Amino acid sequence: MLEREVAVQVKVAGEDTSVDFNRAVQSDQQVVNTIAITVQSGYPWYKTPELISFLELQTRYNKFKNLGIIALDGTVISSQDKPLNVKWVQYILGNTLEKEVFLSARQPDPEDGNAVLISAAVLHHKGKAVGALFAVLPLERYQTILQLPIGGEDGFAFVVNKEGEVEVSGRELPFENLFTTLRSASFQDPALLERFQEDVRAKKHAFLRYKIKNHRRFVYGSPLSMNGWYLISVLPTASVEKQARMLTWVSTGLFIFIFLIFLFLGGYLLRLRAYNNQQLFTTAFVDSLTGAHNLARMSQIFSEHLVQLPAQAALVLFDITKFKVINDLYGYERGNQVLQRVAGILREQLEPGEIFCRSAADNFVLLLGYEERSKLRIRLSKLTTQIRRDCTANDACLMIEAAFGVYEIKEDIPFFIMLDRAHLALENAKRESTEKIQFYDEEDRRRIVHERQLENSMEAALESGAFSVFFQPKCDLKTGKIRGAEALVRWNDLERGLVRPDEFIPLFERNGFILRLDMFILEQVVKKLVTWEKEGKEMVPISVNFSRLHLNDSQYIPQMARILDKYHLSPRMIKVELTESVILNNIVLAQNVVRGLHQKGFAVSMDDFGSGYSSLNVLKNLQFDEIKLDKEFLTGFEQNENAKRVIEGTIRLLKILGMEIVAEGVETQKQVDFLRDIGCDIAQGYFYSRPVPESDFEKWLQ
Ligand code: C2E
Ligand code: CA
Ligand code: CA
Repeated sequence: MLEREVAVQVKVAGEDTSVDFNRAVQSDQQVVNTIAITVQSGYPWYKTPELISFLELQTRYNKFKNLGIIALDGTVISSQDKPLNVKWVQYILGNTLEKEVFLSARQPDPEDGNAVLISAAVLHHKGKAVGALFAVLPLERYQTILQLPIGGEDGFAFVVNKEGEVEVSGRELPFENLFTTLRSASFQDPALLERFQEDVRAKKHAFLRYKIKNHRRFVYGSPLSMNGWYLISVLPTASVEKQARMLTWVSTGLFIFIFLIFLFLGGYLLRLRAYNNQQLFTTAFVDSLTGAHNLARMSQIFSEHLVQLPAQAALVLFDITKFKVINDLYGYERGNQVLQRVAGILREQLEPGEIFCRSAADNFVLLLGYEERSKLRIRLSKLTTQIRRDCTANDACLMIEAAFGVYEIKEDIPFFIMLDRAHLALENAKRESTEKIQFYDEEDRRRIVHERQLENSMEAALESGAFSVFFQPKCDLKTGKIRGAEALVRWNDLERGLVRPDEFIPLFERNGFILRLDMFILEQVVKKLVTWEKEGKEMVPISVNFSRLHLNDSQYIPQMARILDKYHLSPRMIKVELTESVILNNIVLAQNVVRGLHQKGFAVSMDDFGSGYSSLNVLKNLQFDEIKLDKEFLTGFEQNENAKRVIEGTIRLLKILGMEIVAEGVETQKQVDFLRDIGCDIAQGYFYSRPVPESDFEKWLQ
């Protein structure tokens, strides 16, 4: 009797898990189908920044490993901007064309060998198959589902195919084939195992109790809805017995209850299986949480012109900026309620001809009519207020902040391009702290496209030597003789010509590439100095700029020291420039770095002094060797007596602190005279020389 109760328990947990697994796989397939429908409208596909960024966005949203399109000729456009293994491409394309929707068996990603699944859907154009959309799914996404909800740590589940080979597992398994490993277990009656295998092959529910190395186990198998796969749930006897002891004093009422759940789930599963893939394709247009359209439907409406667009229409992407916080603080239930409420309000507010859909967790896409920007702005901000007001009953709503990205529809372009543009505007809106409604304009587009191009070519540029160093002399204000120079990076691009650092340094600081670039520049400078030394040229110290990012890098100073050691150059020849803002942001950190640099023998210079709010007090504690006065700090002294006095006073104080003072951006004789009169030592600027390539700079050294 006891044993039967435990058996039921294992079965219930197993059925539960198989329902979850089916749902997860089907939901992935649905997402793939949705994206396929969206992408379809862009046929024929070109590797445009819009398409790539759409694929990247979806990859991120859905936590795919890769997402892409394979055209009939085998061309691949994917979010992982890398060529794909040719065999893989053929395998995916072939299966997808044959089956319309395709879920692969588990297989190693040729890229890194990690096991993945591929979910794919065929792409149509005018009724003909023209390619495949595929998503590479890391197996980890299913692992939590396969943790059996009973037996604590001991219960686990995995998915096998008809041959008993493991496809997906919740944990590391000591075997690869279920049947083989079962055959090595001791069975009182070998016929039992025979029957179990038959059941699995026949896609029937199956149950087995067996013993392996003195451990008794309960195994339950239930068929899944894809690829003839089968879910195997295992519960070792130790925990089964623990459960069983509990069960003995649990009333028969509960037993019946559990049994009923089991029956119910069984029925549910049958229905779920009936839900075949073809249906999935056509009924996948409703977002089950809110009842709104989903992105596929929206895209279809656009591409098939199913609605009369308002005379002036805008595609608005709407994002609840703190949605994750709501989920974390109040739980998913509340989060879901909030989303439902938002959908409710949108439904109320929309005029005839306007539509909306929920595209991802907390993202909604709206198609709205409007007369002018200002009115649309007002309408959107009212929407936020209303969402917040209407649900004061639920305090979660009070936290809602929304951001809007607006694309004004002015041309007949594919839906996903419109979406990408609205998304660009949305990203701007999220970045802005005050204006949460942003309109897409061409300028944004150009900037972002430009940045993407830079990002795509930076690695190659570093390797091919496209980054070079220019030198700008620093001259003695009294004698005009050279006292040093600053190294400034230049990007010599084949198409764009000489690119100035202001165009790429901020980007490289965001993506971290600056760490490598700065070290590269340092190495170039060190090499040059060594050459000059050998050639017997006059040597002056060279200043090298380092980004604030290095301050948090423990390898920063050791790395620098290594480069100087490598070329046997004295660190005295290198001056490190750190900008004022860096230092003020974290004084303790800056103090440590300056001290560390001094210990290794480097001189340190504070760049852009006077552009921020340095206090002289801070300077006293930081022990800089040199201060560079910002160009802005020096402007306007001619007209303004007060400015003149401030500059003069500052310089006097800095000199008392024992620092050398360099004026930057000096362009005129007047400036030179003034600076010399008030006690400044050195100047750098166009007056003496622009930054020049090394060949020109070498003339300065002679
Ligand atoms: P910065 O360190 O303040 O460099 C001085 C900038 O002023 C240089 O711009 C220089 O060309 C410009 N300049 C020099 N004399 C004059 C003048 O008389 N008038 C005017 N109007 N400008 C003058 P550049 O080369 O475009 O560099 C811009 C900034 O990029 C630099 O400002 C520095 O912050 C950064 N940078 C340059 N190279 C590197 C590098 O290798 N690593 C890092 N992290 N940053 C770098
Ligand atoms: Ca500098
Ligand atoms: Ca500067």
